[in-house]
Amino acid sequence: MSNILNAFLNDNLNDLKAQGLYNEIDPVQGANGPVITVNDKSLINLSSNNYLGLATDEELKAVAKSTIEHYGVGAGAVRTINGTLDLHIKLEEKLAEFKGTEAAISYQSGFNCNMAAISAVMDKNDAILSDQLNHASIIDGCRLSKAKIIAFNHSDMDDLRAKAKAAKASGQYNKIMVITDGVFSMDGDIAKLPEIVAIAKEFDLITYVDDAHGSGVMGKGKGTVKHFGLENEIDFQIGTLSKAIGVVGGYVAGKQNLIDWLKVRSRPFLFSTALPPADVAAITSAIQKIMDSTALHDKLWDNGNYLKAGLQKLGFDIGASETPITPCIIGDETLTQQFSKRLIEEGVYAKSIVFPTVPKGTGRVRNMPTAAHTKQMLDDALAIYEKVGKELGVIS
Ligand code: PMP
Repeated sequence: MSNILNAFLNDNLNDLKAQGLYNEIDPVQGANGPVITVNDKSLINLSSNNYLGLATDEELKAVAKSTIEHYGVGAGAVRTINGTLDLHIKLEEKLAEFKGTEAAISYQSGFNCNMAAISAVMDKNDAILSDQLNHASIIDGCRLSKAKIIAFNHSDMDDLRAKAKAAKASGQYNKIMVITDGVFSMDGDIAKLPEIVAIAKEFDLITYVDDAHGSGVMGKGKGTVKHFGLENEIDFQIGTLSKAIGVVGGYVAGKQNLIDWLKVRSRPFLFSTALPPADVAAITSAIQKIMDSTALHDKLWDNGNYLKAGLQKLGFDIGASETPITPCIIGDETLTQQFSKRLIEEGVYAKSIVFPTVPKGTGRVRNMPTAAHTKQMLDDALAIYEKVGKELGVIS
């Protein structure tokens, strides 16, 4: 290794470790369900995005297995050569039905979907108004587009309106887009979509909502846009297929001409191999399941409300969450990591989330209850929270 690279890596890694900001990764030995095995120890899992428990669903596993028998394990090519299987078309039709749009396009991940979609439409003559707390993949997609990025204060509609007005009045930009998460993943709060749509109408903004944490969770499962009845008002409905849907991938749902454009201009669609067939078939079945019944959605919310009430009763700060995402805000990074480490030692897998994922001084342990947890698991987790919270002086 070159001396310069070696010094760069060692200096920076040591610095992160000294600040308590270096994240150690422990592999999960087996399925990522409500209980997981890590370092040979069984733990109640409060860290996965498997909101509805579909990642380990028996019916979806059976669909994936039988699809492998017929299609093999890989799609074999990028979508525009011959990697588009009939399964991808079925999935995209199902996604459009699910999201209430004319059409949809799927990608290999939610992350590359944002990189793909933003940069296919926006360029250096455009501007993007982006919520300050938007996900990293949105930020990277904006950067890739070379559009002027104008961040607005988190969910601050006065700030958004003022910045939209100034951008429009400047006459500098061909197109202006507003981008927001539907549900913010670190705090669990919901974007103010009706206000955003009103501002967008006033200033002719393109609207883009990444509902990675809202699909399957909000709108009786159909997402945050559906929750507010805004299917006809949002130009880009983005989501991931890896959280509530339980598999992997990302998508854009919208008007037919938008999807047609993305099929010819979004680079991961053109240059990266298509999603594997078993995944595509399992995703399509997962979406059908969510559309057929709200039972898993209802169980998720029931569990989320139960855990939140329990933590609040113990005296923890759960922030401004309006969804099942339940942060336990500790503040100091080192204490946050120590808290999470003690929870894991006692039997709860709830990972710490610290800077740069969240602002400095707002370290938290984030809890993600799912439809697959039992009340007993949540009670056991709360008892461990009480013990560790008192031991570390986070609660009295
Ligand atoms: N957007 C948001 C808002 C997310 O929270 C995430 C997942 N962390 C992603 C995109 C990326 O999705 P994926 O994991 O499917 O790449």
